[in-house]
Amino acid sequence: MSALRLSPALQNLKPSATLAAAAKAKELKAKGVNVLDFTLGEPDFITPVNIRDAAIAAMNAGHTHYTASGGIPELKQAVCNAYQRDYGLACKPNQVLISCGAKHSIHNVLASLCGPGDEVIIPAPYWVSYSALVELAGATPVIVNTTEESGFCLSAEQLMGAITPKTKLLMLNNPSNPTGSTYPAAQLESLARVAVEKDLLVLSDEIYEKLIYAGSGFRCFASFSPEVAARTIIVSGVSKAYAMTGWRIGWTIGPVDLIKAMDNLQSQETSNPCSISQFAAVEALNGPQSSVEAMRVEFEKRRNYVMERMRPWRSKFGITFAEPGGAFYAFFNVSSSFKKPLAGGVKVENATEFCTALLEQAHVALVTGDAFGAPGYVRLSFATNLELLKAGLDAIENFLAG
Ligand SMILES: *Cc1c(COP(=O)(O)O)cnc(C)c1O
Repeated sequence: MSALRLSPALQNLKPSATLAAAAKAKELKAKGVNVLDFTLGEPDFITPVNIRDAAIAAMNAGHTHYTASGGIPELKQAVCNAYQRDYGLACKPNQVLISCGAKHSIHNVLASLCGPGDEVIIPAPYWVSYSALVELAGATPVIVNTTEESGFCLSAEQLMGAITPKTKLLMLNNPSNPTGSTYPAAQLESLARVAVEKDLLVLSDEIYEKLIYAGSGFRCFASFSPEVAARTIIVSGVSKAYAMTGWRIGWTIGPVDLIKAMDNLQSQETSNPCSISQFAAVEALNGPQSSVEAMRVEFEKRRNYVMERMRPWRSKFGITFAEPGGAFYAFFNVSSSFKKPLAGGVKVENATEFCTALLEQAHVALVTGDAFGAPGYVRLSFATNLELLKAGLDAIENFLAG
């Protein structure tokens, strides 16, 4: 149909690879195959009961109408209180914008700040949507590869080397999806120093801030100094910490003028985030935080189990990985298994083929690192129960053993 010519911005837009991998697993499941699915990028827990109750109460109180496009004042204040409580960070409600999930927040930051001719520095491996959303804004992603040896952390030298007169923004994700890496505070501070020196804006995606393990620490990027805070755009939300992916609430904390521009954009594109979800998010932030810790403890058990199982794979199969300090992903390099017979005699050339063969032969679903700018790697989500993890790791082991 000749009339259906997509806009230039959309012609090159690919669907989210993680969602695509999950869809492929679902397809096989629909055929009756027992797929061991580790593609999930969300907590498997139900949202805590106090938060669900707050949503019901909000509905019954009649909070079923449009709200202010940038979010209700109660939620903006709750975000400010949470950052003061958790990180000693002072911010005002006019620095906060509530959006329909952190992904929407990121889109609105990029759409408000970037355009043709602008460069956005993205350390790889990166979350699938980063480069796509930068391109959607018409700007150019500048990918900087980090190494497993560095724990997939960008160094100040690498950042310096990537900055040009066109650089608009650095996008950081700490803790990281897909690698699970967490930045040591000193290294984060060295990046913050570069940002101040070069007057660079930093979008810090801290959606996994509450899921920290094995003695790793988390440092909010804006918390180093007022000079750093002035250049930091924090993006986070309730999806991962409170098991609220379906509610679609994220936020941005940033300079007042940016927040104003984003609010204008949002008022034209989506209007307000769901009113009921906003009231639920107020309870999430203001209410008891014990459920966050209870879920974190569960995730840590799973992480430790996965690591125990995977460590022997280093010598046995030549698999390499950096142990995750946060989030809920194991990210490992399977390139030692390329061009060798795996289970069923199948041979693969890259991580995407590895995932396809693993799904077909062993009915285990992982996400290829190719989607994250990390050829040779695959991502396993441990946001599933221990029983499923055991079955999955057994199956992967058998697949690798050939
Ligand atoms: C899950 C995730 C998000 C966004 O989550 P929302 O559900 O849109 O709030 C953002 N960044 C990363 C790295 C994520 O993994």
